[in-house]
Amino acid sequence: MPTIREELDRRQLLYSLLMPVMNLYMPGLDKGKGLYFLFVKSETKTPGGLLARPVLTSYYKSDHFKTRSFDPYNVYTSPNEAILCPDSFQSMYSQMLCGLYERLQVLRLGAIFASGLLRAIRFLQLNWRELAHDIRTGTLNSKIFDSDIRSCMARVLRPDQELADFIESECSKDNWERIITRIWPNTKYLEVIVTGAMAQYIPTLDYYSGGLPKVCTMYASSECYFGLNLNPMSKPSEVSYTIMPNMAYFEFLPHDPNSPSAGSDKLVDLVDVEVGKEYELVITTYAGLCRYRVGDILRVTGFHNSAPQFHFVRRKNVLLSIDSDKTDEAELQSAVENASKLLNKFNTTVVEYTSYADTKTIPGHYVIYWELLVKDPTNAPTKEVLEQCCLAMEESLNSVYRQGRVECNSIGALEIRVVKNGTFEELMDYAISRGASINQYKVPRCVNFTPIMELLDSRVLSNHFSQSLPHWTPERRR
Ligand code: AMP
Repeated sequence: MPTIREELDRRQLLYSLLMPVMNLYMPGLDKGKGLYFLFVKSETKTPGGLLARPVLTSYYKSDHFKTRSFDPYNVYTSPNEAILCPDSFQSMYSQMLCGLYERLQVLRLGAIFASGLLRAIRFLQLNWRELAHDIRTGTLNSKIFDSDIRSCMARVLRPDQELADFIESECSKDNWERIITRIWPNTKYLEVIVTGAMAQYIPTLDYYSGGLPKVCTMYASSECYFGLNLNPMSKPSEVSYTIMPNMAYFEFLPHDPNSPSAGSDKLVDLVDVEVGKEYELVITTYAGLCRYRVGDILRVTGFHNSAPQFHFVRRKNVLLSIDSDKTDEAELQSAVENASKLLNKFNTTVVEYTSYADTKTIPGHYVIYWELLVKDPTNAPTKEVLEQCCLAMEESLNSVYRQGRVECNSIGALEIRVVKNGTFEELMDYAISRGASINQYKVPRCVNFTPIMELLDSRVLSNHFSQSLPHWTPERRR
C-alpha cells in the first residue's frame, strides 16, 4: 500500500486519542505499565527501489514511536530494542522476560489481534523453563544474540529466586486456566481486537484470563487508519467504531445483506449514511488511493456528534463454494460456534479452524479443520459427537447450501478433520516465513494453497462426516 511520511502524523493522532478515551472508563492506568507484544518485520524493496514493510513496522520504526516523550499512560514493559528486533523468537523472548520481571506493575496486557496474544501465551507454555532459569540466574539465554537486545536486557536482568520459583510453580501446573491473572494479577483488561474474524478467540482468551474485559480500541488497516472505539468497555459483540473524518475521504457503497449482489453502486457520503444499514467502505487516501474498496462491510449503529459509528460486520468475501452455495466468513464462524456448543459438556473448545472446499471428490464437500483444546483428556468428545458437530455445522449454513445437500445432491457431507495441537501455530510460522507480519497475521479462514493443505493434512488426528442430511424445505418462490 502506498504511504507518505505525513500519514504517520495522522496515525499518531488516532493513537494519541486512545488513552484519553480509556481513562474515562478506567482511571489509574498511569500508575502502572502495559505489557504489549509488538513486533516488526524485516524490510524489502520494491523493484522501483521503494521501501516495503508492514504498516505497524513503519510505525514502530518511526521517530513517532521510538523517540516518543514520556507519557505515564503509555509506559510499556517491552523495551524498544526488543520490539524492534526482526527475529520473532528473540523479540518475543525478551518481551516476555521483561513482562515477567515487571509482573506486578502490569495493568493491561495486549497485542494487536487476539491471535497475537494467544501466541504469546503459547510461547510462555513452550519456554517458561528457560525464562525462569534466566530470572533465577540473572543471565540471558544464549539464543538471544541480538546485540541491542543483549545490552538493554543487561539493565533489566537481576537474579530473583522468588520470582523464578513463582513462575515455575504456576507454569508447571497442568491447568493453565486464568494463567494471565495468576501471573499478572493487577491486569485490568486485555487490549486486543476481537471483533470480526477475531471473535472466535474470545472463549480461549476468557479461559486464560478468567474473563477479563477485552478492549478493542481501534479499527485500522494498511491502507488507512479509520477510527476508534469511544466506548471501549462495551462487549465485543456490541463494539462500534467511530470513523474519524480527517483520516481519509470516506464513502460508502450500500450493501444489502439479504442480497449481496443487489446493492446499489451509488456511493453515499459519510454524512448521509443511515442507522441500521450496511455499507462497504470506500476510501480516498492522502497517499493516493482513489475510491479504493477496502473490502470491509460495516453497519451503522449510531452517531457521535455528527460522526457515524459502525459495527464491523465482516470482510466481504466468499469463503467456500461448491455449487451455487456461497458461505462467507461470518456464516462459517457462526456454524463453528453452533457446532462447538456440542463440545461444552466435554469441556472442549475449538481453538482454531480453517476450511477448504474439497472438489476432488464428486460431489465436492466442505472440509473444516479443527484444532481442539481438550481440557479433560479422560472425557474427550467421541467420534459420534464429532459427527454430530458436522451435522450441526450443516444445519447452521444457509438454505442454498442445505438445498444443495438435500435436494440437488450437489454437495457432499461436511467433513471435520481434527488436527494436532500446535498445527495452527505451524501454519502461522509458515506464513511468517513467507513474509507475513506477526502483528497483522490473521488465520486464513479458507485455504487452498497446496503446501498449506499438505501441512494441515499431515497433522490430521481423525476425520468425521455428517451421518445424515440437514433439514431443508423448499422455500416458496415468488
Ligand atoms: P491489515 O491491512 O493487514 O492491517 O488488515 C486490515 C483489515 O483488518 C481491515 O480491513 C479489517 O478487515 C481487519 N481489521 C482491522 N481492524 C479491525 C477491527 N478493529 N475489527 C475487525 N476487523 C479489523
